[in-house]
Order: sequence, then C-alpha cells, then structure tokens
Amino acid sequence: MTYCIFEDLIGAVEIKIHLKSCTHYTNHLPTETTKWHEVDDYKSAEILAEQLSKKYKKGWKRAECCHDV
Ligand SMILES: [Zn+2]
Repeated sequence: MTYCIFEDLIGAVEIKIHLKSCTHYTNHLPTETTKWHEVDDYKSAEILAEQLSKKYKKGWKRAECCHDV
C-alpha cells in the first residue's frame, strides 16, 4: 500500500498522511508551497511524517479521510 505525506512548505498546517488513492492526492494541483512525498508502507510514512513535522513544530497525523483503510 502506498501512502502519501502532505507537506506544507510554509508550515501553516500539520503534516498529514493520506493514501495514494485518496482524492486529496489524486486531485491535487502542484503548488509552490506544498509538496507530496510517496512511500511504500505505513511505517515509512510515520517515520517521514515525524521527521517533516519537526521542521515546522506542527505535529503530524493520519488524515481523517484516510483513517479506516
Ligand atoms: Zn486522504
């Protein structure tokens, strides 16, 4: 299962983990201030989310839309 981690480069919101199939990811438009990271398993997603969140001191979480899968 592939997960996608959403990073807001200006640090306005926390880091969120989505599934690659999530419409937030599939419908997203590339912008200058956001970035998506793809990883192959949930453990890697957690590790990366934690690393990224430290840059912004915003924390991280699994996105609500991608909780029960
Ligand atoms: Zn999602």
